[in-house]
Amino acid sequence: MNKSFKKIGVMTSGGDSPGMNAAIRAVVRTCAYHQVQCLGIYRGYQGLIEGDFKEMTPRSVNNIINKGGTVLKSARSQEFRTVEGRKKAYEQVKASGMEALVVIGGDGSFTGGMVFNEEFDFPVMGIPGTIDNDIYGTQFTLGYDTALNTVVDAIDKIRDTASSHNRLFFVEVMGRDVGHIALNAGIGAGAEEILIPEEDMGKDRLVESLKRSRKNGKSSSIVVIAEGDTTGENVFDLKDYVLQNMPEYEVRVSVLGHMQRGGTPSCFDRVLASRMGVKAVESLLEGKTNYMVGIQNNKMALCPLDKAVKGKTEIDTELLRVSDIVTI
Ligand code: ATP
Repeated sequence: MNKSFKKIGVMTSGGDSPGMNAAIRAVVRTCAYHQVQCLGIYRGYQGLIEGDFKEMTPRSVNNIINKGGTVLKSARSQEFRTVEGRKKAYEQVKASGMEALVVIGGDGSFTGGMVFNEEFDFPVMGIPGTIDNDIYGTQFTLGYDTALNTVVDAIDKIRDTASSHNRLFFVEVMGRDVGHIALNAGIGAGAEEILIPEEDMGKDRLVESLKRSRKNGKSSSIVVIAEGDTTGENVFDLKDYVLQNMPEYEVRVSVLGHMQRGGTPSCFDRVLASRMGVKAVESLLEGKTNYMVGIQNNKMALCPLDKAVKGKTEIDTELLRVSDIVTI
C-alpha cells in the first residue's frame, strides 16, 4: 500500500439495492484492517453537504450483512448538482479530515463522484450498487442476483394462478433501459415470451407467438416484460391488444414494482459486496482514484469511472435463442 490515508468516507447514493449493507460492512472492516478510520456518510451527497457523518467501527457494522436496503440511507441531492453545493460538501469533507471517498451507487452517483474529483482533486472509488445490472465495466452489480431471485420467486407464484385458470399473465419487471432482469428471470421462471428494450418484437409477432403456444397445447402463458420495453405503449396497452386478438384468453397484468429492490441479499450478492468493499479500499490505498470496482470472469477489475458511466452494457443475445428453444 503506497498511500497512508487516515480517514476514508463511505456512502450509498441513488436507488438502494440488496448488498449495499454488505459492501458498507466490507469497506468499514477493510479500513480497520489497514488502520484507517472510516466515516459513514448518511443520505448520500446530501449528507456530504450537511456533514451528516458518523465514525464507523468494525462493531458498528455487526449483523448488517444479511439486511436489504442501506443502514446509511440513500438520497438524491439536487444541491450536489450545483457548484455551490459541492463547495459546501468539500468544506465538510475537509473539516472532518476525510481524505478519500467510496461511493456505492449507480451511474448518476459515479458522475457526481467524478465531478467532485475533478473540482477538488479528491480521491473517489465507486462500487456498483443497482439491481438493473446496467453498469459498464462489471458483469454483475450489487443487488442484481437478489432481484433475479425475487422475480423468479414471484413469477413461480403467479404461474400457479395462471395454470389453475388458463390465464395469460403479463409480468412487468424493472429495467428502464436494459432487459437483463427480464431476460434472465424470464428464462429462469420459464416465461413463454420475454420483451426487452433491446429488441422490438412487435405486437403482431407477439400475438402470433402466443397463438402458436396455444396451438401447441399450452393453456396458460407468462409473458415477462421489462418496464422500458417499447413493443406497446405500456404493459396495459399490450394486454388490451392481446385481448382484442385472442378473446378466448383471460389476460391479467402484474407489475412487480419496488418489491424487486428489497429483501435479504442472496449469498452471491453478499460475497460480491465483500469482495468489492475490500478491493475499493485497497485500491484507494494503492493510490488509485476515479475507478469503479467491477467483476470480470470472477476476478476483481477496475474500470475508469468515465467509462463505467458512458459505456453501455449489452444483453447476451444467445439467451434470446435459448429462450426461444426452451419455450417451444
Ligand atoms: P440509480 O441507478 O438507482 O438511478 P444513480 O446513482 O444513477 O442510481 P442518480 O439519482 O442518477 O442515481 O444520482 C444520484 C445522485 O448523484 C444525484 O442525486 C446527485 O446528487 C448526484 N449526481 C448525479 N449526476 C450528477 C452530476 N452530473 N453532477 C453532480 N452530481 C450528480
